[in-house]
Amino acid sequence: MRNEYVPVIGLETHVELLTKTKIFCSCENRFGAEPNTLCCPVCMGLPGTLPSLNKKAVEYAVRAGLALGCKVATVSGFDRKNYFYPDLPKGYQITQHFTPICSGGSLETPEGAVRIARLHLEEDAGKLFHNREDATLIDFNRCGAPLVEIVTYPDITSPSQAADYISALRQVMLFCRVSDVKMNEGSLRIDANISLRRPGEPFGTKVEIKNINSIKFMEKALAYEIERQTALLESGGVVMTETRRFDEKSGKTEPMRTKESAEDYGYFPDPDLEPLLLSDEYIEGLRLTLPQMPEELKSRFISDYALSNEAASRLVDSPDIAELFLKSAAGLDNTAAGLAANLINSSPAEAVTVRPERLGRLAEMLNSEEITFTVAKTLLSELSSSDFDPAQAAKERNLTAIRGEELKKLAKEAVKASRKAVRAYLGGKKTAVMAVVGAVMKASGGRADAEKARELIIEIIENESGGDSDS
Ligand SMILES: [Zn+2]
Repeated sequence: MRNEYVPVIGLETHVELLTKTKIFCSCENRFGAEPNTLCCPVCMGLPGTLPSLNKKAVEYAVRAGLALGCKVATVSGFDRKNYFYPDLPKGYQITQHFTPICSGGSLETPEGAVRIARLHLEEDAGKLFHNREDATLIDFNRCGAPLVEIVTYPDITSPSQAADYISALRQVMLFCRVSDVKMNEGSLRIDANISLRRPGEPFGTKVEIKNINSIKFMEKALAYEIERQTALLESGGVVMTETRRFDEKSGKTEPMRTKESAEDYGYFPDPDLEPLLLSDEYIEGLRLTLPQMPEELKSRFISDYALSNEAASRLVDSPDIAELFLKSAAGLDNTAAGLAANLINSSPAEAVTVRPERLGRLAEMLNSEEITFTVAKTLLSELSSSDFDPAQAAKERNLTAIRGEELKKLAKEAVKASRKAVRAYLGGKKTAVMAVVGAVMKASGGRADAEKARELIIEIIENESGGDSDS
């Protein structure tokens, strides 16, 4: 086999923190407000103003760092990154260049661990709108929004591993409750570095793809770069150090500018901000507040409740869902807990607003066959808008499952009324029985168990025909 090029990928992820106010002023930190309504002289960068550090932003950065296995610095500081751009009214961004608050951590992906070099705090810039022909508009609301930037080592070797890393990172940030990580609102943005090399050779020249706002686009952009750089290298060309952007329409990356080096930014410590000093007690105190992380919880769901890998994975999509399951499954046996998981996964958005004990009760009722899954889903949906006792409601509204003789009677009637389907079934078209099941479900108003009804119907048909339909 030929000596193929191997991609070397590193990711820088900007995660916006969910603090109520901005990082250096008391303006509200919120997405979606009327443009330029959440600004003050500090975040507008007016002369003579002084930044004052938001403690909550520090707390969130430390929680995020601890969750990623980072070491938290007891001394760090803030620096100015100087550059001119219309969305940055101060002419510099306050970041942590020389001493990040967190460093050294890692995140597991199915293809291997990805080491994290650093996690640092910084402020966001404003937002430019280029969608008008005659002007570019600026919204300063995002100026000074708190961010953590998480930088990996170039450990990633494929676009799919990059995607797995970002998915895992999103979940960790969600479970720490430090960010809503909504990529469509810009709460999580990715810069990807990529170069190619043959195994054993030194690193090649890297290209940076800026500001990617979806995992799918990141995968496409990286795949495109692998193709582009391979073609370039194989034809004897040279990869240029540059910043590129991904065009969603063409699926290609295109050059933005040649990459600035660190010197271009003229970094220096911000004289307006004191060093950030954190005590070991403070750091350890925050470590104690960390919840179980998604991977841990998933394994726990599988081992403690015998859930399938798929059901457990879906329950850790969000911390609220995971918590709901844990609370509602408390005291249930594994079968009932599995039913609670199915119920939650069938409609997570509704389930998350229901009290856990109500969900647990629904799972118990399902487990004892008092109600069918259809009825349980209806009750769940109703419970998401008003609270009531589901057992009592099922009784009062006659929603309890139709079983035994009553179900047999319905099945017999349905067989009698569906001669065509029965003949088709006896003629070898086994799926025809579902029409009869449908009739039972309709007659029962969803209160019959479809699988039980199917078994009964087949039994009735085969008895009627002398039990020789299979011969
Ligand atoms: Zn402000």
